[in-house]
Amino acid sequence: MPIKLGELTIKKAHDHLMKGDFTAVELTRAYLDEIKKKDGEIHAYLEVFGDALDAAKRADQMIEEGRAGLLTGIPIAIKDNILIKGKIASAASKMLEDHHATYDATVIAKLAQQGAVFLGRTNMDEFAMGGSTENSAYGVTKNPLDPTRVAGGSSGGSAAAVAANMALAALGSDTGGSIRQPASFCGVVGLKPTYGRVSRYGVMAMGSSLDQIGPFAKTVGDAKILLDVIKGKDAKDGTTIGDETYNDGKGRSENGRGGGKKAVIGVPRHFLSGDGIDKAVMEAFDESIVSFEKKGYEIKEIKLPNISYSLLVYYIIMPAEVSANMARFDGMRFGLRKEGENGIRDYFESRRAGFGSEVIRRILLGTYVLSSGYYDAYYNRANAVRKMITDDFLGAFKSVDVIMTPTAPSPAFRIGEKTADPMAMYLEDIFTVTANLTGLPAISVPCGSTMRDGVELPIGLQITARHGDEESLFSVGEEVRCSFGEEV
Ligand code: GLN
Repeated sequence: MPIKLGELTIKKAHDHLMKGDFTAVELTRAYLDEIKKKDGEIHAYLEVFGDALDAAKRADQMIEEGRAGLLTGIPIAIKDNILIKGKIASAASKMLEDHHATYDATVIAKLAQQGAVFLGRTNMDEFAMGGSTENSAYGVTKNPLDPTRVAGGSSGGSAAAVAANMALAALGSDTGGSIRQPASFCGVVGLKPTYGRVSRYGVMAMGSSLDQIGPFAKTVGDAKILLDVIKGKDAKDGTTIGDETYNDGKGRSENGRGGGKKAVIGVPRHFLSGDGIDKAVMEAFDESIVSFEKKGYEIKEIKLPNISYSLLVYYIIMPAEVSANMARFDGMRFGLRKEGENGIRDYFESRRAGFGSEVIRRILLGTYVLSSGYYDAYYNRANAVRKMITDDFLGAFKSVDVIMTPTAPSPAFRIGEKTADPMAMYLEDIFTVTANLTGLPAISVPCGSTMRDGVELPIGLQITARHGDEESLFSVGEEVRCSFGEEV
């Protein structure tokens, strides 16, 4: 049977594979052909794996032997900062141009065990620092809907691959929005799980208290399938939690939900009135809220008194952690090495040659806020406000089950539009960083679109839930009425 990539979801592909309508090898070949056709222009991939068809053959074997799971034979793209043993993992940096991973990330081991097929590694902002994939050392990823625009970032390659049918799903990492914002820009679903839900073992650390790995998919249901496989407690990441941590009913019961009751939706209107938010984004957001109301959901206005500090707090804590995590790239232990006049100059030369300007900017900022004399004024104070922001959310979740905002303040912007102005780029993260600071799970689901220069660009709705309550993200996310693309 002919394979129509545009119509496939993981669920549908799985059914076809089980019925024998096509094999995993045929499915993988169809994706490789699509990549060959489109990726010259889009540049979602840094490398397409030569052994994808071998993995597909093994998947076919599993299917034949009746050992197939939902992801067996499903072609998936992997962000270039997640380790696959034996493959290059460069984090789109010159620093790690030839760095081969020596072990599998936990998420990779889990997917491989299920028989998923890794198509290749995807482009990103260098070490995941950025919001447009323009900080990649290997060129920008273009938005498949309008190649003059960015795909978002930092996981722009993963989002573009799924949006352009060059992968059925993908993995990304999210430290301040890097899954949700590109999902919003490319019209796909992107999930940042609860902090600790998914093991970080084998993802290159950016901000260790903020990082989470999560899925990109075409539907909410597919995102759930991926999360179910990659989540779980892991002895190799002491911050991971198991399902039991949140399944004791605590935190969910106060509102009396359950028994078929609809989730109560909170909207922090006071945070959505700034003029930095694109008009079309607010219209799409408001329409979504109205449609939830029509479906019988209760909408409550909520106050998050400290939320306006989120971006400031993020841009102190994140660089502080970045400066510590980047210290290992010293020309001695990993990656690129440049000789200077002496040992200490080797170190300087290697870092200067290996890192791009955004990474250097963040190392400098982070080193500054951690330096003696400024530590209390910046880093400690930011941590105190981080706690206040978290308390605001936990307080709000006493009376609502989910909180909705736009995912990003604008639709996909033009390539080059914000590169000269780091502050303008940082402002893109205004709605997404809170989930990382608080550890809460959040999903971006396409909820509408806007016409720009004759092209229909997607707009994403962000839904945030209580710690551990990804289920509410899925059940509410599945109901988002989407006027863009296909069913969600
Ligand atoms: N855009 C944000 C930043 O530049 C988020 C990055 C991320 O989530 N990795 O820090």
